[in-house]
Amino acid sequence: MNPDAGSKIFLPQDEAAGPISLQTIARQEDNPVKVDGSCHCGRIAFEATVDPAMVTICHCTDCQNLTGSAFRANVQTPAESFVLLRGQPKVYIKTTAESGTRRAHAFCPDCGTPIYAAAVTNTPTYSLRIGTLRQRAELRPHRQIWCRSALAWAMDIHEIARLDRQ
Ligand SMILES: [Zn+2]
Ligand SMILES: [Zn+2]
Repeated sequence: MNPDAGSKIFLPQDEAAGPISLQTIARQEDNPVKVDGSCHCGRIAFEATVDPAMVTICHCTDCQNLTGSAFRANVQTPAESFVLLRGQPKVYIKTTAESGTRRAHAFCPDCGTPIYAAAVTNTPTYSLRIGTLRQRAELRPHRQIWCRSALAWAMDIHEIARLDRQ
């Protein structure tokens, strides 16, 4: 029996390929928490409720390119829980997903911080970017997707020299 049957869950939605089937989701907890976040310059601020079990690292090439980094960490929030407290993000419509699904990528027009991705219309969820959330240290990822395009070195950084500061 599925203990989650009938209860509300937040379906993770892959950046590039649309919804992921329920079978691929290993649910380890069901403990929604309130989070709040902002862009780097502070023009945009928001709050939301997220399920920490849904934190995902995405290794797709779009995330690599759009973040300018090795991968992206996301967490889904139901659209009804996402509240924009300050500012209005600029939206870029991404059209390069393998599935053909268009995605709205919102970012701060001043500092460029990525804020969320969502369906272009009537979005059921927002995919928040972990790095914008004040509670990010507690939001440990539970799975990695699009490992097919992962940068090999990014899958194991334990051996890379570590300094407390630059
Ligand atoms: Zn900003
Ligand atoms: Zn991605």
